[in-house]
Amino acid sequence: MKINDELITQTLEAAQNAAPQQVREILQRARALKGVSFTETAALLAVTDKQLLNEIFETAKFIKTEIYGNRLVLFAPLYISNLCNNECAYCAFRVSNRALKRRALTQDEVKAETLELIRQGHKRVLLVAGESYTGKGLQYVFDAVKSVYSVKDGKNNIRRVNVNIAPLTTEEFRQLKQYNIGTFQLFQETYHKPTYESLHTAGPKKDYDFRLNAMHRALEAGLNDVGIGILFGLYNYKYEVLAMLQHIKDLEDTYGVGPHTISVPRIEPAAGSELSERPPHAVSDEDFKKIIAVLRIAVPYTGIILSTRENAQTRRDAFDLGISQISAGSKTNPGGYENKEAGEQFSLGDHRTLAQVTDDMVSHGYIPSFCTGCYRLGRVGKDFMDLAKPGLIKIHCLPNAMFTFAEYLYDFADDNLREKGFALIDKMISDLPPQVKENTLERLKEIAAGKRDVYF
Ligand code: SAM
Ligand code: SF4
Repeated sequence: MKINDELITQTLEAAQNAAPQQVREILQRARALKGVSFTETAALLAVTDKQLLNEIFETAKFIKTEIYGNRLVLFAPLYISNLCNNECAYCAFRVSNRALKRRALTQDEVKAETLELIRQGHKRVLLVAGESYTGKGLQYVFDAVKSVYSVKDGKNNIRRVNVNIAPLTTEEFRQLKQYNIGTFQLFQETYHKPTYESLHTAGPKKDYDFRLNAMHRALEAGLNDVGIGILFGLYNYKYEVLAMLQHIKDLEDTYGVGPHTISVPRIEPAAGSELSERPPHAVSDEDFKKIIAVLRIAVPYTGIILSTRENAQTRRDAFDLGISQISAGSKTNPGGYENKEAGEQFSLGDHRTLAQVTDDMVSHGYIPSFCTGCYRLGRVGKDFMDLAKPGLIKIHCLPNAMFTFAEYLYDFADDNLREKGFALIDKMISDLPPQVKENTLERLKEIAAGKRDVYF
């Protein structure tokens, strides 16, 4: 595929003149949960008026609640290596950063890190690596996926390993699929080609088109779920969002399914990177909230992921606007969970532990979900989208969120959180449709009696 640069520029220009009434009509239509068009998205992105912005936020909140309820899925990144042959101007792992302490975890170390995450209560891991996989090539990553899945701690284990590594060829994607990964994540960083080329000056990542077409190859190779993203701060955010919509449309047109998730990282300070200290197109907190809300409105059924790059308050604000997955208790250096010495990729905005994050979520009415049910029942790719579309997420995913959170409360929480958590679960049960309620209560009893890994 190619990004239609001219169309984006023209659409953004035309959108400057959208009247408030037009924006309100778009927002009204958006409440049907069917998304909005490319041109309409541009009109929403152009809004600066405070009152209209609030109306955008309200609409995003409505859509988020209708589709996802009060559920937020949790995961942790697991950095296996900070070795990298690329030269990305914003990243501490870039090849020219000689001062960085490098480390590629051994498989035993991958297992030790995994155990640490399991003991915190995690069930989902995002495996991350720079683009250089020791002497073993890609097999190093495959082995790491196997290592993560191999670790058991009593009844607990990691049930879904998502992967964020460099783009692969179709044949390599076919091999990766054999290792039972969840989502393959890859961020385009910037869709604006001249900017991309000026910021990626060495290594395989220089090739913009190879990266842009990676998700097409992944789906071609039979992977079910792909996750896309933009690194905000590199180029004009409005351009990036429209380009991302073109990317999504091309995937939908070609494969009948769009991305499973969208990530919205903003640049954080990274060791030795001047650009990361002063991003050329820094996105303000207000614009960042608008981006999340507009994405929620434009592609209502695609998960939106927010990482610990953002601080606790920004994260709280963003939950309401459309975020459906968050990381917690993260470390961005290989070996970080075991306090091993190695350079981190960037500094974090949210340093709280998983326990602190879950506690805070419950206090704000959100239920932490560790659910991986869909993948294990084969509800992935297009099937997942079909399930999601009529709003069934609420019927399947809310009870599953309650089950996995109840398991977490029994196995990992302190008394205070356990009490608060079960109070929230009780409240949510009373809102369930009658036929789901009975089944849910039954399963919760099984969990109280010691059963684990309960889902439907
Ligand atoms: N090396 C692979 C790649 O570049 O696609 C995958 C892993 S890379 C560690 C994951 C992501 O981290 C990148 O896609 C980039 O968006 C993000 N990243 C790099 N430097 C960052 C920074 N200073 N602040 C925030 N995110 C950053
Ligand atoms: Fe390497 Fe990825 Fe960092 Fe670029 S963003 S330097 S490819 S780890």
